[in-house]
Amino acid sequence: MTDQYAVFGNPINHSKSPTIHRQFAEQSGQNLHYAKQLVAVDEFVKCAQDFFAQGGKGLNVTVPFKIDAFSFAQQLTQRAQRAGAVNTLAMQNDGVILGDNTDGIGMVHDMHNLDWELEGKRILILGAGGAVRGILQPLLAEHPELVVIANRTFSKAEELAAHFHDLGDVRAKTFEQLHGDKFDIVINGTSASLSNDLPPLPDNVLNQTACCYDLMYGSEPTVFMKWAQQHGAAKIADGLGMLVGQAAEAFYVWRHIRPEVVPVITMLRRQLAEKK
Ligand code: NDP
Repeated sequence: MTDQYAVFGNPINHSKSPTIHRQFAEQSGQNLHYAKQLVAVDEFVKCAQDFFAQGGKGLNVTVPFKIDAFSFAQQLTQRAQRAGAVNTLAMQNDGVILGDNTDGIGMVHDMHNLDWELEGKRILILGAGGAVRGILQPLLAEHPELVVIANRTFSKAEELAAHFHDLGDVRAKTFEQLHGDKFDIVINGTSASLSNDLPPLPDNVLNQTACCYDLMYGSEPTVFMKWAQQHGAAKIADGLGMLVGQAAEAFYVWRHIRPEVVPVITMLRRQLAEKK
């Protein structure tokens, strides 16, 4: 029987996960079926139970179910435990459902693909929501010199810095406190780009060779990417590679094969450009 996989979310129509995983499967000669399923907001557990009871092998989980998936998993990877959220569920050979979070490692792998050095760098992260929580452990595992988290609601940045402080030098700051600081890498992990907004960044936070990364992606550069361009960033990227990277890591969790991400990123980039 063909192995069954799916992505659960609400909304789900926009999801690129089926396209990405079909490409991975084709590329690596794996026989699997990957569907997308719209799940009612209060029905995650029931739908996930049904999916696995019917022999499903693995799920991706997106907004708003990553915390439900965290509770649903019977065993957690370390990075999922740290993130407090799960985007990948896998039925293991022993019948135990494993919960993992591959978002952060997806971003780190994308930065490696882009040839961005993380070790010894000064990194600024804007935002302190679910996505930032997910990227902190994989990012700190790369041994940056310093990670500063700046957030509109300062208490959330403080809470995250405290939660991860045993893994490296992580500090919380308000946007005002960034005046006078310089960074090698700035990551926009806010959802401000969704509403064409820009976090209130001081003008001169970028080092001469700074790299800027927006977790969001689209057919056009985000406001943050335009800001980066205007302020002399040496390299700028959006989160499309992270999306494909998190999928590749989920595919690895399920199939123990690392798919090629570059052709899939290229294909999605072309599709986005055609939508312009
Ligand atoms: P959350 O809702 O959990 O967090 C949103 C964060 O953005 C909070 O820190 C919030 O600050 C901040 N924020 C929102 N609006 C503004 C604004 N106008 N100015 C300043 N700060 C603002 O969202 P997520 O963490 O889940 O997602 C964040 C982004 O990451 C989204 O754009 C999402 O699309 C993207 N993402 C991309 C992925 C990929 O694979 N490429 C994967 C996951 C997420 P406050 O705490 O003060 O409210």
